[in-house]
Amino acid sequence: MGTKHTVEFSYLDESSYAKKLALCKTYIHIQFIEFDRFDMLHTRRRFLQGTSASIIATGLPNTGYSRTIMGDMTVHSVSDGSLTLPGEFTFGPMPQDELEPILKKYNQSSETLTPPCNVTLLQNGDRNVLFDVGSGPNFSPNSGVLIESLDALGLTPNDITDIVFTHAHPDHLWGLLDDFDDPLFPEASYMIGKAEWDYWMDPNTVSTIGERLTSFAVGAERRLASIADQISFIEDGQEVMPGVAAHASFGHTPGHMSYEIHAGSESVMVIGDSIVNHHVAFERPKWPSGSDQDRDLAAQTRVRLLDKLALEKTKIIGYHLDVNGIGYVERNGDAYKFISEV
Ligand SMILES: [Zn+2]
Repeated sequence: MGTKHTVEFSYLDESSYAKKLALCKTYIHIQFIEFDRFDMLHTRRRFLQGTSASIIATGLPNTGYSRTIMGDMTVHSVSDGSLTLPGEFTFGPMPQDELEPILKKYNQSSETLTPPCNVTLLQNGDRNVLFDVGSGPNFSPNSGVLIESLDALGLTPNDITDIVFTHAHPDHLWGLLDDFDDPLFPEASYMIGKAEWDYWMDPNTVSTIGERLTSFAVGAERRLASIADQISFIEDGQEVMPGVAAHASFGHTPGHMSYEIHAGSESVMVIGDSIVNHHVAFERPKWPSGSDQDRDLAAQTRVRLLDKLALEKTKIIGYHLDVNGIGYVERNGDAYKFISEV
């Protein structure tokens, strides 16, 4: 395990886009904004500690405290901070001349993306269920604040009973282990799509995934292996626990799952990264996105999901959608629009 650890972090140190970004003035500027946001989170946490839960319920922009009550269940969007990504990572394969006016419309830079990371927390009776666990401290400078956010809701890692993964990319999985590589959620049981598990645990993946994502493969295998005895596998359509159904949404990763949390006629769809931003993914869902591993399949999944979500007016929580990721999909001619609830 020691050897793998070294490989993973030395690769990250050498990661060309992280290095380029660190030298880029825009990036440094964004860092300051993000650190301000991080300070806000802590200030807010201190504030919230002295307040009643009903104030948390109002939902506060950027820090992602917001909740939906459905029957006996409460669904929160809980912030793990945000990522800083080079625009090319997502926009690279898109038609650049058509892309420009869309980015302009959304005030989105083509150089850098700073998407939020919105972890879903479901509270049902004595169960506290997390959908993904954030990035932990070793992936991106402004992410990895999930534990602080849970603390603001009065929860510690020991209170988490179940963890359900949408997929095994770093910003969703790497928060699994603490700084000493021990599991951070000692009481939790884990679930993941069977196809997702098989892909990342396949010894060939590290050599076939491509240089750009090698660290993703090494990091996923090491973390998933650490919970191999506590994890169970999910298939499409399965009711993974009372009130939660899995829906295959393959393409972003080979076994990506979305989850529908339902009570009576109400439901919330946890869409993970199947619809990965609030601008281009809605405006041009058929375009290939650089952040998807199977771009054709991901586009088909996106179109199918957007159509269904708009038709059924389902509330969604998108891991990287604007503010706290909670909102609705609206059809807009041939395109779609994200209507944020904030
Ligand atoms: Zn993600």
